[in-house]
Amino acid sequence: MNPCFVFGYQSIIIMLLKKISSGVFHPGIWVLLLAIHLSASAQIQVALSFDDPHTNQTLDLNWNQRNESILRILKKFELSSTLYVCGFRIDSESGDSLLKTWDLAGHELANHSYSHWYLNSKKISALAFVNDIKRSDSLINGYSAFVKRFRFPYLKEGNTEGKRDSVRDALNQTGYVNGHVSIDASDWYYDQQLRDTLSKNPNADVDLYKQAYLEHIWDRVQYYDSLASVVGYSKMKHVLLLHHNYINARFLGDLLTFLKQNGVQLISTKEAYLDSIYSQIPMILPTGESIIWQLAKQIPEHASTLRYPAEDGTYEKDILRKRINER
Ligand SMILES: [Zn+2]
Repeated sequence: MNPCFVFGYQSIIIMLLKKISSGVFHPGIWVLLLAIHLSASAQIQVALSFDDPHTNQTLDLNWNQRNESILRILKKFELSSTLYVCGFRIDSESGDSLLKTWDLAGHELANHSYSHWYLNSKKISALAFVNDIKRSDSLINGYSAFVKRFRFPYLKEGNTEGKRDSVRDALNQTGYVNGHVSIDASDWYYDQQLRDTLSKNPNADVDLYKQAYLEHIWDRVQYYDSLASVVGYSKMKHVLLLHHNYINARFLGDLLTFLKQNGVQLISTKEAYLDSIYSQIPMILPTGESIIWQLAKQIPEHASTLRYPAEDGTYEKDILRKRINER
């Protein structure tokens, strides 16, 4: 949301609150306050994307239970999403069954490479990386829900000009577009912490982790939406990065309810990717992270304010520990 707009409507609310307390306005003005608040918050539109489906058992949930839970919530919220498939994790009969359920449910299946390599590593060449994308393509291009969108593992798009441009050229030549995220987050970290805790103590208080997770995502939604206005996309359609993991199998419904309560409008990825921001081509090095972050990095006065990597478990560690200690 545009920070100027937030400041504007918050100022109006503070002014009205003062008038109410001094008896100038009838308390019915609350209805008006609520309307102002909702119209301001409702401007954040968010689509969901899920990376890295896999068929391993996670605690009490096997892949099928985890998958069914995520799909059931998406259906309940009438949301169409995109599943970014990393080949080696689903290169099996059960992997095929998992992808078919997404295919049948009307979601998109897109490419997330075969081996999940870190392109910015010196050990990974552009040629090997491109061949790895093709390997994953051959696994998933037969599904009717397949779309030619590629999401870089770890959102890392190249540490040198040569490598970045070679991969970009190869994607262009094969008709692929970049499967950007606009809202980056660390759901994987909260997932890992929740599973670690539950594996040691199955009766641990999961509510603590759930609440911390919901607030983390909401915090990132607000941060990236504010950053979007800085780069000239104050009313953009967002794509949020989530994973096909245990925490989302358990709490995706709570997350979506929480976001809606905060005024977020949930939209399909198909709709979100029509936003012109996703066809921008940032030229920073190393290339990668959220598309909004990359565009902000190109603006000298904002570049120094951005942390790198943009998101990581290390930023979440103290936040979560503080919450646990306060309990
Ligand atoms: Zn991934």
